[in-house]
Amino acid sequence: MNQSRPVAVAVLGGGISGLAAAIAAAGAGLSCTLFEKEPKVGGLWGSAEKDGFIFDHGVHGLYPAGPKTEGTVKLLREIVGDAFVETNKNTKILFKDKLVTYPLQPGEFFTAYGPQGFWWAANLLGARLLTSIRGEARMRSFRDYVEGNFGDLLYRIYFEPYVKKVWGVDPAYLDLESVARRVKRIRLRSFLKQLAARGLGIPAAEHSYDGLQPMKIIYPKHGAQTVVDALQRKASAAGAVIATGTVVTGLSYRDGGYDIVVRGADEKEQRVRAETVISTLPLPDLLAMLFPDPSREVAEVIYSLKYRALRICNILLNCEHIFDAQWTYFQDDNFSFSRVNEYKNLSPFFCPPNTTSLSVEFNCDVGDHIWNLPEEELFSRVATELDQPIGQFREVGAKVRRHCIGSFSVRLSHGYPLMEIGTAKHLSRALTYVGQFPRIRTIGRQGRFGYVNGDECVAMGFAAVEELRKESGAG
Ligand SMILES: Cc1cc2nc3c(=O)[nH]c(=O)nc-3n(C[C@H](O)[C@H](O)[C@H](O)COP(=O)(O)OP(=O)(O)OC[C@H]3O[C@@H](n4cnc5c(N)ncnc54)[C@H](O)[C@@H]3O)c2cc1C
Repeated sequence: MNQSRPVAVAVLGGGISGLAAAIAAAGAGLSCTLFEKEPKVGGLWGSAEKDGFIFDHGVHGLYPAGPKTEGTVKLLREIVGDAFVETNKNTKILFKDKLVTYPLQPGEFFTAYGPQGFWWAANLLGARLLTSIRGEARMRSFRDYVEGNFGDLLYRIYFEPYVKKVWGVDPAYLDLESVARRVKRIRLRSFLKQLAARGLGIPAAEHSYDGLQPMKIIYPKHGAQTVVDALQRKASAAGAVIATGTVVTGLSYRDGGYDIVVRGADEKEQRVRAETVISTLPLPDLLAMLFPDPSREVAEVIYSLKYRALRICNILLNCEHIFDAQWTYFQDDNFSFSRVNEYKNLSPFFCPPNTTSLSVEFNCDVGDHIWNLPEEELFSRVATELDQPIGQFREVGAKVRRHCIGSFSVRLSHGYPLMEIGTAKHLSRALTYVGQFPRIRTIGRQGRFGYVNGDECVAMGFAAVEELRKESGAG
């Protein structure tokens, strides 16, 4: 096995986290090599292209959500340049037979369903009042949280089927802190004001939620890939080596440094010596390759950290529009997909003139029925399900079939870390185990096994280099 020259920093994985770390390391004058198994960088923050159409791996925009991430968003905009469009979010849910705004606007939502909607609103109010008396201390799961804040009726009709579809598990087993608290609570005062205004037929101010992401979205004009490509150029210009098509297969700590085994496109293995390591690999994969061998306890942890996968059916269409929303959620069991994105509604540069496209997201597990479904059957399933005579969706499937000029799918094995009750304990053990090794950091969505957004990943990449430099006495 060849042994290459030692580097100061080895970055494992070339998603947005790894690229940020490479920019920071090379920018600080450290020798740095980044290893990415795929032929191009980007990971989840990537795009696929076909016949002049661009498809991101799910909607990937920036949300300047306060002082914590504003700086990172600004930095990204500086690096990437004039490559973004700014737009207001326009998101819908197909709820029963109607398309309603998401996040739910009580004035629109509850009144759209007549007396039934007022009954749901009363149920929500009752649940919120009870929770304000009892407190949330005894809540354990997603189900507890949602029933306590939205009422059991909305839980059963909306949250339960949607969450089962996305996560593949009963919401009663999903962790409260990491999943449920991402569902923001409706502010009661504006909820009541909106309902009253609607009842009286007068205009009402927009409804607000606690801690909701901003409604403005900064979107990469020509797709998410342009962002990571710009980061790659910046890292290379600073002197980092970006080794794509290179799989990391082993990592061992020896004599104050790391031996990393990598396999190139020619299938040959090479050993690389590094003083420090920044890993953005899925945490269980890192644990499994980190030597000396983990204890039995850690081996158990590896099997407890699971990811939910995503298969995205991308459809090219020779018509102007299908939906008016940027993304539409399908909570109903009649649809096996959970979300449909129409990128043209975010940026007009995603498809040629007089055309549009849809990205249909199926949440699944690696190797299951959806993951393995042949391409034509996946497309056919989308068209058939959109053809169901549900409300205004009567014609959509037929339109999609009539105007389809091509389709293909993308598989993402590590879409979402699965946070069941008990996972947090395993995660903490895993991070403690890695923390015992000197001069290694595990960062990013896969590395921290958390719902981390792209801007937070970039911030982590820079912070990791800073910390490692301090640890080596260079900061
Ligand atoms: C559907 C969806 C929508 C999203 N929308 C948004 C959004 O709107 N805004 C936002 O900010 N965030 C969004 N996110 C989150 C965002 O995608 C992630 O936070 C971010 O892309 C994670 O980057 P990462 O570098 O940490 O991980 P990844 O992108 O997963 O990068 C890890 C890299 O490691 C590589 N790798 C794995 N194993 C090996 C190996 N053995 N050897 C070498 N390389 C390896 C992988 O190929 C990959 O490139 C979304 C996520 C999903 C799934």
